[in-house]
Amino acid sequence: MSLSDAMHATGVEVNYYFICKRKLWYFTHGITMEHNSTRVEIGKEVHKNSFKRKNKEIMIDNQICLDFIDKELIINETKLTKAMNDATRYQILYYIYYLENKGIKQVKGIVHYPKSKKREIIELDGEERQVLDKVLKFIYAIKKSNSPPSLEKKRKCKKCSYYELCFS
Ligand code: SF4
Repeated sequence: MSLSDAMHATGVEVNYYFICKRKLWYFTHGITMEHNSTRVEIGKEVHKNSFKRKNKEIMIDNQICLDFIDKELIINETKLTKAMNDATRYQILYYIYYLENKGIKQVKGIVHYPKSKKREIIELDGEERQVLDKVLKFIYAIKKSNSPPSLEKKRKCKKCSYYELCFS
């Protein structure tokens, strides 16, 4: 498998890879339960009511969807909490990496946390490029697999929209 095959990942898939590989498998096999999650609904509201004057949700290549990107080439993402920090960070790093591979350089990211009025700057370095090369290949392999990765109970499972599917 080439890296260009692996580059077919979406930002959500990269995010889910860092949250739970099983969740990633469910999602990429058409099993979605997010509509059951109050937390997701709250997240959507925070997103909808933040940065009202900006153009939101820019879709690129029908593959990566940016919350918004401004003229200084800063990708802005809005999140409810820092709970899934790595997942958010790598989702944005993937956007930067994806754009870089299309020849768009010097892109940065900012994650906004409107509830706590905080923000975090995200920049891609060489080490993270290598991590992403590997992660994208793992994501590709998970998507191609006929069965989900084995079940492991984690603290975050209780807040996961797939909880009943995994543990009932
Ligand atoms: S309930 Fe736990 S194991 Fe199942 S998909 Fe969610 S996070 Fe992953």
